[in-house]
Amino acid sequence: MPSAKLEKRFNRTLLQTLTLRSVLSVLALSAAVLCAPDLARAQTPGDAIGDLIKDVVIPRAKPEGLSTRNVAAKRLFGAKKKAARLRPNAYGSYTRGCLAGAEQLEATGPAWQAMRLSRNRHWGHPKLVALVRRLAVEAKQHDGWNGLLVGDLSQPRGGPMTSGHRSHQIGLDADIWLNPMPNRELTYNEREKISAKSMVLDRKRLNRKRWTEAHARILFRTANYHEVERIFVHPPIKKEMCEWATRKGVKDRRWLGKIRAYYGHHYHFHIRIRCPQGAVGCKDQKLAPRKDDCEENLAYWMGTKPWVRPKKKKGAKKKKPKKVYKPFVVQMKHLPKACRTVLNAQ
Ligand SMILES: [Zn+2]
Repeated sequence: MPSAKLEKRFNRTLLQTLTLRSVLSVLALSAAVLCAPDLARAQTPGDAIGDLIKDVVIPRAKPEGLSTRNVAAKRLFGAKKKAARLRPNAYGSYTRGCLAGAEQLEATGPAWQAMRLSRNRHWGHPKLVALVRRLAVEAKQHDGWNGLLVGDLSQPRGGPMTSGHRSHQIGLDADIWLNPMPNRELTYNEREKISAKSMVLDRKRLNRKRWTEAHARILFRTANYHEVERIFVHPPIKKEMCEWATRKGVKDRRWLGKIRAYYGHHYHFHIRIRCPQGAVGCKDQKLAPRKDDCEENLAYWMGTKPWVRPKKKKGAKKKKPKKVYKPFVVQMKHLPKACRTVLNAQ
């Protein structure tokens, strides 16, 4: 074979090998990107491809304490599917903390059904989970309440949530729907789709077609549990409870102080228990007043102040254009240090 022809053939083979090789490496790279989207995203476009492949094949240890520092904590906590296998403890405050050794409330119990199972938010401090179970059974036995439909508790390791709720971060908060459980077991899909029912007509008036004696009794029972520190309800519900206590001639009215009027609680009530004894690093709120607080609390919430934005005064000077509103994002550095251990635990 003439040498020129031989050279041509050699070149062609070389070209084919090279093309095949580059196709293979592109395939390997896309597979790596698909399998490790977070890692891929973490790389800047300028990074060498070799680095990316090296990271995927032989993961480098991330420097402790640096990698998660500026990531929204809700992304990290929201991704955890199971509790941290540590001694149960609530770290931090209701709105800024996390939860170790959480327990999961059973989806269906003798007197409750958990709703929105896909959210995986029925985890709580064992004390809270025990309280929900107890309330369910006792209210069914004594209050004419058919059973609880349980809304959100906390994520498996607490922390900020991926959506909704500012609190519920340390496993000591639970939302209970204000419509009682039906007499049958709901399917998974029903638990995703059925909506809770509002008990009010507007911010001042209760819907008496829906409100029952059993509602008053279950709230009375909940407020009288020692561990319960606060119950949030819509203002007309607090008002109704004050009047109910008077009608029933309930002499000790201190439990009413725990029932706090607050926006948004007309289709569920929110139970908050205090920090369990010996929970080091758990921050309690200021105690709720140990008096009925029917006057002050209601005067405020029945007024317009909490509901209406203050109007600008006429003739007020035009201010500089406001900065673009950026919601505050809780990052790991804003949470107690122990939350890092909770996040990284087995
Ligand atoms: Zn709540």
